[in-house]
Order: sequence, then C-alpha cells, then structure tokens
Amino acid sequence: MPLYRDEAVVLRTAKLGEADRIITMLTRGHGKIRAVAKGVRKVRNRFGGRLEPFMRVDVLIATGRSLDVVSQADAIAAYAAPICADYDAYVAAGVIVETADKLVSAEHERTPVQYQLLIGALNALAKHAHAPAMVGDSYVMRALALAGWLPRLAACVVCGDPAGSPAYLSVASGGVMCAADHTPDSHRVEPVVLNQFAALVRGDWTVLDSGELLPDTRRLVEEWSEYYMERPIRSLRLLD
Ligand SMILES: [Zn+2]
Repeated sequence: MPLYRDEAVVLRTAKLGEADRIITMLTRGHGKIRAVAKGVRKVRNRFGGRLEPFMRVDVLIATGRSLDVVSQADAIAAYAAPICADYDAYVAAGVIVETADKLVSAEHERTPVQYQLLIGALNALAKHAHAPAMVGDSYVMRALALAGWLPRLAACVVCGDPAGSPAYLSVASGGVMCAADHTPDSHRVEPVVLNQFAALVRGDWTVLDSGELLPDTRRLVEEWSEYYMERPIRSLRLLD
C-alpha cells in the first residue's frame, strides 16, 4: 500500500468493530482525512493516547482501497493534556474541533491556512493565553471568514457609508446596515458589541483581553456560525 506522511490534528474518533477506531484528522498537506487506527481500543496499543481529539501528531498513513490506515503516529505537541485539565479550555477545544470538522467538508483537499488557524487556537488554549471561550469564538469567526464568510462590519452593506450609530446587523446579508437601509431581518447592535465582534474576527487580543465577552457578542457568533455552516455548533451551547 502506498504511504504518505503528514502532520495532523485529531478532530474526532469513532468506534469501528471490536478494537478499531476511525480517526478524523485535519492535516497540513492533505486536508481532512479519515483513517482507521487498528487495535487502538485494546488496553495495550501501539498508539498510546496519541490518536485522541486535540492531539497534534506526525502520522504515516497507508492508502487503502476503501479507507486509509494509520500506520504510525508520533506526538508533536501535547495540547490534549493541558486542555483536558481545564474544563473551560476543554469545552472551547470541543467547539474548535467540531467547527473545523464541519467547515472542512471535503476530504483530501489541502487547507494549510485552516490548519494553521486550528493549531494556533489549540496552542492558545493549551497555554491558557486568553479566556478559553474567547479563543473558541474567535476561532469560529476566523475559520468562517477564511472559508469566505467574513462579516462586513465597517460600512453599511447596502450604501457603503461607514457604520454609524445605531448600527444594524443582518446575518443573511453578511454585515452591518445603516438606519436608513436596514432590512426587517436585521437587528440593532450596540457599538460595544459590534466592536467586540469585530475584534473576534480580527483576532485582536488587545481589545478582547481587556474585558469579558458580552452575551450579545456571543449570540452574534452563534447566529453567524449557525447561518453559514447551516447547522448549529453543538459544543458552542456548552460555553454559555
Ligand atoms: Zn446604508
């Protein structure tokens, strides 16, 4: 069987038969892949805990006829231990891997930028660099922006005038609207909420680290992600 080697983050695992698991991973060079890890559910297995969610591994994969098979996995960064030791970080990491899994739907399509964003977010969680929920929400918004759903927040999406106050946000129209143009589906957003939402999208930690995430900002992240991913991120609810 031909082999390929890549670096990957484990997004999800599922049981397969008595002793095996299917591991869903986002890789640096091969996009999202699913591969079987044989014997991984036996007490003594050659993979140890290296194929658990949030692990960043160097993998050697054998291309199979139906499913690929993990032949080797070495840990690169042990994000999993510090993340799992902190409940908030664990929940946020759940949001992150669930988002990556849903957002990158095609397998074997290279997405190095999404991969970079993913390891950046897990690294920040593992190091307790910022409030975990903010890391999760910022990741969600930035991953969606990279996928083409960047919210337009600086100017009205209808007339192009700079966003004033009051500002309205229409998720379906992709950004803010002025008082004159706002459509019935839009809702009014306080400047402080808009500012925080924009900071999440930019990954602007100077703004974000200076305060708590407002409930209205979190709601915008939920609305935006549900609309553009066409389904809710289940783990996001746990963060509330
Ligand atoms: Zn306008």
